[in-house]
Amino acid sequence: MTDISSIISEIERLPHFRTFTCRDCSAEIRVHALQIYAVCPRCGVRHKCRAFGAVGTELQDVIDAVLTWSGEGEAFEAVMKRRQEILADEGDHDA
Ligand SMILES: [Zn+2]
Repeated sequence: MTDISSIISEIERLPHFRTFTCRDCSAEIRVHALQIYAVCPRCGVRHKCRAFGAVGTELQDVIDAVLTWSGEGEAFEAVMKRRQEILADEGDHDA
């Protein structure tokens, strides 16, 4: 069982994008970390990029859960407000 602080630091280190090699034609394919499927731009083969199941086991599943939890309307607006606060706070550290 992974504790919350290590999940947080792993998410902070998770790259937004990664590349992998198409198993059929060896083309390089760039995908976003949350992308479940990618179609090879050269040969058109569809690749599954995540272990997507009913019960998630990847960091990306944690992010999906947060996105789902973010909700809509007033709840989502509150989440976006918090996001702005976090980004503004990070900007302060850079200065
Ligand atoms: Zn391909």
